[in-house]
Amino acid sequence: MHVAVVGAGLTGCLLACYLARRGYEVTLYERRPDPRQGGAERGRSINLAISARGRDALRRIGLEEKVMAGALPMRGRMIHPVDGPLDFQSYSHDGTAAINSISRAALNDTLLDAAEAASGVKILFGHRLTGLDPETGELTFDTGTAKADVILGADGAASVVRGHIKLDEHVDLLDHGYKELTIPAVDGEFALDPGALHIWPRGDSMMIALPNPDRTFTCTLFWPKRAFAEVEPVVVEHFRAVYPDVIPLVPDLAEAYPRNPVGTLGTVRCTPWQRGGRVALIGDAAHAIVPFYGQGANCGFEDVVELDRCLEETGGDWARALPLLEERRRPNTDAIAAMALNNFVEMRDKVASPVFRAVRTLEHR
Ligand code: FAD
Repeated sequence: MHVAVVGAGLTGCLLACYLARRGYEVTLYERRPDPRQGGAERGRSINLAISARGRDALRRIGLEEKVMAGALPMRGRMIHPVDGPLDFQSYSHDGTAAINSISRAALNDTLLDAAEAASGVKILFGHRLTGLDPETGELTFDTGTAKADVILGADGAASVVRGHIKLDEHVDLLDHGYKELTIPAVDGEFALDPGALHIWPRGDSMMIALPNPDRTFTCTLFWPKRAFAEVEPVVVEHFRAVYPDVIPLVPDLAEAYPRNPVGTLGTVRCTPWQRGGRVALIGDAAHAIVPFYGQGANCGFEDVVELDRCLEETGGDWARALPLLEERRRPNTDAIAAMALNNFVEMRDKVASPVFRAVRTLEHR
């Protein structure tokens, strides 16, 4: 049986590994060239927090150790007020629980290597899906056509596969966008504590920074979209007033700020996720969320584990397994979509409030 997976991002690659282990012949179609041959997109590196949920999915297929070798544990939040001392807020009472900072590009490369090495998986780069027929399983790419028994759309938030399944779709774009900056290493060392997720909460907007193995930090500004252009002519003055401790940390601020793009954030809600037991959505294609709970990729990985379980329980009956996947995953993905939106308010606002800090102190007793 031949399964086409559209999209060799994080979800698609892990999915190909799991399906290959079940003995399926898998073709992974990716619109981009092989990212392992060239550099990451300029100004958009994105490092992710991988949590216990994502680690579990990686562990089940023997990839956890390899992925974690390039990860940095963050055991709490470090709050940077406009003035006054830093405030470390541990993620657990005993200080041992951590989320793990990892480069999305490095994670994708590791998963591509694993998919490529799996028996029965073929990866075709430079194949952009432009159309598909859910009745016949015919796929149309800008390079030609192909056919598959089952088609799985792991092609992200702007999924083309989703556009070819008759479904109810709501895409809610956030009024906030994001832009990245880099804090370089200082004399070969981290400029900030690498054991924390750094947050600069500023009411309606915020900045965060996650550590990278090369001792840099990737900062992400989450601001109302209009603010990015408004600030551009006065970026250094703005940072001096609002993020004063960042000024010495980002020496190329004036050049990097206008150069780096503004990304869009949003929530995708659609139903059903599958059609006819033959074409289905998975990962961001089915349920993209805003990034404030750090769970989008973790969720895509959990989808893969659940689909594997559904295939096991139905004896490989896709017509039963695909609806079962949606039935089991939807309550979870609906919940995290709402929690992620709520956590934006907590991260950019509540973590800095004296009331929040007082409540946390009581909790920790
Ligand atoms: P994608 O990563 O979007 O991959 C889709 C793939 O499909 C891509 O390779 C694309 O090129 C390909 N493709 C698209 N269209 C076509 C086509 N027509 N034909 C062929 N190929 C196609 N998640 C976390 O778990 N933790 C975090 O801390 C976190 N932080 C984030 C921070 C930011 C700023 C953002 C934007 C996201 C963050 N996420 C985080 C979310 C995470 O990046 C996504 O949930 C995850 O990348 C989704 O993986 P995916 O494979 O489903 O989709």
